[in-house]
Amino acid sequence: MGYLIIIISALAFFTLLGSILGFLVLKRRYYKTEFRRKKTKKDTLLANELKLYEYLLLLPSQQTYSLHDIAKELEIDQKEICETLELWTNSGDLDKVGYYTASTESFTRVFSSRKPVSTNRCYYCETEIPLTEINCPHCAFEIPVCALCNFPIQYREPASLCPYCATIFHQEHLLEHLLSTEACPKCSQKMNIKQVKLASKPKASKVSDE
Ligand SMILES: [Zn+2]
Ligand SMILES: [Zn+2]
Ligand SMILES: [Zn+2]
Repeated sequence: MGYLIIIISALAFFTLLGSILGFLVLKRRYYKTEFRRKKTKKDTLLANELKLYEYLLLLPSQQTYSLHDIAKELEIDQKEICETLELWTNSGDLDKVGYYTASTESFTRVFSSRKPVSTNRCYYCETEIPLTEINCPHCAFEIPVCALCNFPIQYREPASLCPYCATIFHQEHLLEHLLSTEACPKCSQKMNIKQVKLASKPKASKVSDE
């Protein structure tokens, strides 16, 4: 009789232990998948943002586009586009490309004419520096100057390089130029709007002296 009780208790004990272990393993697997799902979602959002920005930049100026058409063209959810455009409106980033009208869910592309500026924010490290500087005193990078308007390219201003001669331009100035003449203003190599890509810049570490 005593043996039976021991065997039954042992069985009960191992069954219980097995269930607990099984539960823990399942729980861990669940959180792992959840984490991966969230990460992929974030990556997709970032990729969509870049896709949207580059698309808007290439639209002909002075025209209004419905977000419905843009969403269809890019295969991005229209609601996501609305949210992104609202975010860019608030941060001031959209000003450089055009403007968004929430009531009609439309986007109007405008090539902004440049206002005269008295100071320059370093394209690389964001530090405010005088317009006359050739090299940034903070990060030591040479200040890029747009070959079309001769103004320095400032922090957060989209810039593009000619794929042939690597001359740098404000992206919208290059696009504006290519709409009338399909050639690089510097080296005269034939190129079109589709070849214009956002220039990537090296990361500058901000040297703070405050
Ligand atoms: Zn700098
Ligand atoms: Zn320019
Ligand atoms: Zn060129």
